[in-house]
Amino acid sequence: MSDHDIDPTSPRMAPKPEVTKIDGRELKPSTLMMGYGYDPVLSEGSLKPPIFLTSTFAFPSAADGKRHFEGITGKRPGGADGLVYSRFNAPNQEILEDRLSVWDGAEDALSFSSGMTAICVLMLAYASQNDVIVHSGPLYAASEGFVAKVLAKFGVTYVDFPAGATREEIDAVLTKAKAQADEQGGKVCMVYLESPGNPTNALVDIEAVRASVDAAQLDCPIAIDNTFLGPLWQRPLDQGADIVVYSLTKYVGGHSDLVAGSIAGAKKWMDPVRMLRNTMGGICDPNTAWMLMRSLETVELRMNRAGENAAKVCDFLARHSKVEGLGYLGMIKDARQQDIYNRHCKGAGSTFSLLLKGGEAECFRFLDSLKIAKLAVSLGGTETLASHPASMTHLSVAEGRRAELGISDNLVRISIGIEDADDLIADFTRALEAV
Ligand SMILES: *Cc1c(COP(=O)(O)O)cnc(C)c1O
Repeated sequence: MSDHDIDPTSPRMAPKPEVTKIDGRELKPSTLMMGYGYDPVLSEGSLKPPIFLTSTFAFPSAADGKRHFEGITGKRPGGADGLVYSRFNAPNQEILEDRLSVWDGAEDALSFSSGMTAICVLMLAYASQNDVIVHSGPLYAASEGFVAKVLAKFGVTYVDFPAGATREEIDAVLTKAKAQADEQGGKVCMVYLESPGNPTNALVDIEAVRASVDAAQLDCPIAIDNTFLGPLWQRPLDQGADIVVYSLTKYVGGHSDLVAGSIAGAKKWMDPVRMLRNTMGGICDPNTAWMLMRSLETVELRMNRAGENAAKVCDFLARHSKVEGLGYLGMIKDARQQDIYNRHCKGAGSTFSLLLKGGEAECFRFLDSLKIAKLAVSLGGTETLASHPASMTHLSVAEGRRAELGISDNLVRISIGIEDADDLIADFTRALEAV
């Protein structure tokens, strides 16, 4: 913080919250979610942060305004030490970002108006003309499209590898990417992962990717979309990733009532993205930021309950005669995938694929018979959702590529919510009888 006095009328010029320990005991994220980053004294004693609906912030003096702009524009290292304009930052978003950092053990975080805004601004911040992006596959369809179709317009190419790849395979991919970059006159600008992959739940070995990138002496960040398991069941920064990416629309928002995204990591990785967000916009709005703070208070409760429900439901489904298989992280069949899971994950999540005996017709009969589970895409909400990827989320994926990714016609994707587990099992029992 600067050495000038903190202006008590300013919503959030307080130093970053200090109370993260009591008697030497590190407070857990679930405790910190109730107050971290917010001081009621600065807002009339309001226990909860007000929603700050303002586009701009009054400067105490012209000199303050100058100093803030020096921070915003990068003329002075360290960033702005006061609020300037709501496209750059604002109180609700700052508090949200502080709290998101806590969950992933990150130094800094940035919030966005959607998961895709976060991903696009992140990639644009790092990719220059003729660069190469290395990515795992499959990615969320829009992320894959942004790399293959939009960045391609600027001469950026990509090299991809399957989620379960080994250290040796990743080494080979990086060698190929470096050669490709040399040929194009660019560099490898980012390694972008998504784990587990959707909808098959294939895990990426983040530790192996870290070792490969270090061995290849690549000076680029490893980013990972942690939407399916974060922030509770996987903390990729602990496994050597540099940037963790979220669609907050899913488990973090958790009530299927908002769209938002975020990234988190060391400040040095966040700074270029913050600069581009300042230019382009795309920051989360204050109402949504407030909703997300409310959601973060219960994220652990919700995710734990959804995870427990999913374990019970999958236990039932796995033994049902009309079920061919399950893509559930609590029941991995492959030794290498199990090894990655043991090293990286603290829980199996609540989103999985259900393979029915049959094809599209059987899946549709199953989906149309559900009474509790809703027929909708998305995941991570309080309510259980079910969908048919081959004919819905992945319809635009070419048939050959779909087969390669394991997205068969008999695959239903399910995201388990926080309802009563036995009620859900009763619903699935009925729906399977209809198949
Ligand atoms: C939903 C999702 C996204 C996109 O997020 P939006 O908030 O819908 O923009 C990105 N990655 C994954 C894994 C997702 O599930």
